[in-house]
Amino acid sequence: MKVRFKPRIRAHAVLNERVAAYMRTADHVGARRRMVAKTVVILSWTVGSYALLLFAASTWWQVALAAVSLGLAMSGIGFSIMHDGNHGGYPGPAWVSRAAGFTLDMLGGSSYIWSFKHNVNHHTFTNIDRADSDIDLNGLARMSPVQAHKPGHRYQHIYTWGLYCLLAFRWILLSDFQNMASGLSGENPFPRPRGRELGLFVLGKVIALGLWSGMFFVQPWPLAVFGMLLTAVVLGFTLAIVFQLAHVVEKAKFPEVSGDPARCDKDWLTHQLETTADFAPRSKFWNWYLGGLNFQVEHHLFPKICHIHYPEIAKIFRQTCEEFDLPYNCYDTFLDAVVSHQRWLRKMGSGWSPSPAPSQTAHV
Ligand SMILES: [Zn+2]
Repeated sequence: MKVRFKPRIRAHAVLNERVAAYMRTADHVGARRRMVAKTVVILSWTVGSYALLLFAASTWWQVALAAVSLGLAMSGIGFSIMHDGNHGGYPGPAWVSRAAGFTLDMLGGSSYIWSFKHNVNHHTFTNIDRADSDIDLNGLARMSPVQAHKPGHRYQHIYTWGLYCLLAFRWILLSDFQNMASGLSGENPFPRPRGRELGLFVLGKVIALGLWSGMFFVQPWPLAVFGMLLTAVVLGFTLAIVFQLAHVVEKAKFPEVSGDPARCDKDWLTHQLETTADFAPRSKFWNWYLGGLNFQVEHHLFPKICHIHYPEIAKIFRQTCEEFDLPYNCYDTFLDAVVSHQRWLRKMGSGWSPSPAPSQTAHV
């Protein structure tokens, strides 16, 4: 489903000008150095954890520690390397971004399909039901008031956290193949990969399969199964919760669109500001580990800018939003955002809706 927005407002042009002016004088050499150093640290952390899991861990608790470390390191690749890469925002020539983006394939997810699902659908139609697949849990949980409420949703503030643990399984084993078979990302068609892109899709799946099954060649199978499952649970949970904290929280809106073609009653800048929230902007730890995903307001407007610049760009956003009386959603800490996400899950689970609830037969 495509959605049309109202014409651009002046604040959007002003924001573009101010960010462009900042980027003309920004320290690009320093940003590149920091990204390279960060990439080396996270990749070394991943390889080190993987090696420990395969060759050093010999008891259940050692496997558990190595698997948790590996899951967190792989999430770090997703946050800080592949995300910038797949947006074309990794500093340097285009091939560097493409290589950084391919790290997603090596973890098990297709960067080709991600480029449509995330870069196009999620970034453009944020929090719009049936257009943004990030808020579509196939009816198992209700993320938006626009979605139909089912009786079982009243427990979703408890069980949704468990669903997040399954994200990596679903993504690696199911979603990519379903998307390839249907040619759809959510309800939106995308061109199936051909030639080189198809080759990279297959290559990525083969490499990921080899890496994920590596433990079975060197560890006793009960430890191998345990290590692999725990790694996938940590990876899925960490990825899911971080992406949810920027959009599925009390401060974010979930616009209802109508008509054919569907129309949103806001311009795109206002839409993005209303549907997205930053969190923990002053935390050096989260700024480093999350690769700018705690500055999603800035990221959604300027996804091709490397996340190293987001803390400075956030100052421009705050000032401009204040000047033009626009919303700027932010949670001071990571925990504030987690609590807000939990409250929102409970509220949606109760059936709350600002307008009359849609019918039970509506798409969820
Ligand atoms: Zn993004």
